[in-house]
Amino acid sequence: MSMLGKLNILRFFKEDDKEYDNRFLKFYHQNKKRLNKERRSKYQIHKEKGLCVRCNKHAVAGIVFCEYHKSKQKGYNAKAREKD
Ligand SMILES: [Zn+2]
Repeated sequence: MSMLGKLNILRFFKEDDKEYDNRFLKFYHQNKKRLNKERRSKYQIHKEKGLCVRCNKHAVAGIVFCEYHKSKQKGYNAKAREKD
């Protein structure tokens, strides 16, 4: 193949990349949506099973955290209140 032929092929792929980028972005955004859905459902499943949503330990009755993450959450809340 001549050098000119190779350059023409490169140019062809470059133009095709634009389309590919669009298709990839479309796929990426669809995938992002799906991943967010999966994250939500994991939270939902843990909640329904009575497990901590931050880890897999049993959650304290009435809340979605285990003892450890409950106390951690308490710490965050106390810090947030200090700011006010
Ligand atoms: Zn936990």
